[in-house]
Amino acid sequence: MSSLLVVSAHAGDFVWRAAGAIALATSRGRRAKVLCLSFGERGESAKAWREGKSLTEIKAIRRGEAEAAAGVLGAEIEFLDAGDYPLQETPELVDRIVRVYREVNPSVVLTHPLADPYNGDHPAAARMALQARVLAQAIGYDAPGDPLGAPPVFFFEPHQPEQCDFKPNVLLDITPVFETKRKAMECLPAQQHMWEYYSDLAKRRGVQVKRNAGPNLGLPHNTMGEAYMRLYPQVTEELA
Ligand SMILES: [Zn+2]
Repeated sequence: MSSLLVVSAHAGDFVWRAAGAIALATSRGRRAKVLCLSFGERGESAKAWREGKSLTEIKAIRRGEAEAAAGVLGAEIEFLDAGDYPLQETPELVDRIVRVYREVNPSVVLTHPLADPYNGDHPAAARMALQARVLAQAIGYDAPGDPLGAPPVFFFEPHQPEQCDFKPNVLLDITPVFETKRKAMECLPAQQHMWEYYSDLAKRRGVQVKRNAGPNLGLPHNTMGEAYMRLYPQVTEELA
């Protein structure tokens, strides 16, 4: 069975940027697993810090929110609690990610783009996700499970795409699951300011889905979209 693995630096990232892809996958009976390297406890939980919560409390809050969002999306979720701001790249953390690849055997991988001048944790997560993918492919790498194939990697859309060298060369129609994405976003009140922003973005990407699909598909007026960027070339037997 095909499966989706989402490597997310912080607890909320997978929701804003990839909830549509996750909900589409699970609605079609596919397995989806979210791997959160940290809770985003220091860098993406400003509201909770202002309310005087402790680090332990904030981690618990963010875990609960992300679990609820994953539940809405029908996805599994695992937290590695590797710490954020900064998210440290270590061989141990990469090894833990390799083991998740070997267990999930994903047919598709989603993660952050490799550039983000506003947030060093995001490219760090991407670098580790990519390195772990390559290591998981090696038959000689010492981790349980079979060597990984060559699942395509899609970068999901960063908050400020132009500055992150993000060019949306894949547009995903998420219209059938947009309400599910909205419900998942509403599981994250710690970042309530993002709900409308990412709903508006889905509308704009939806316009581009329609424009690039052309009129023959007859997509509806309210088409909603998510943008992705492929890292590796698409392999195909015919150009279509
Ligand atoms: Zn983040």
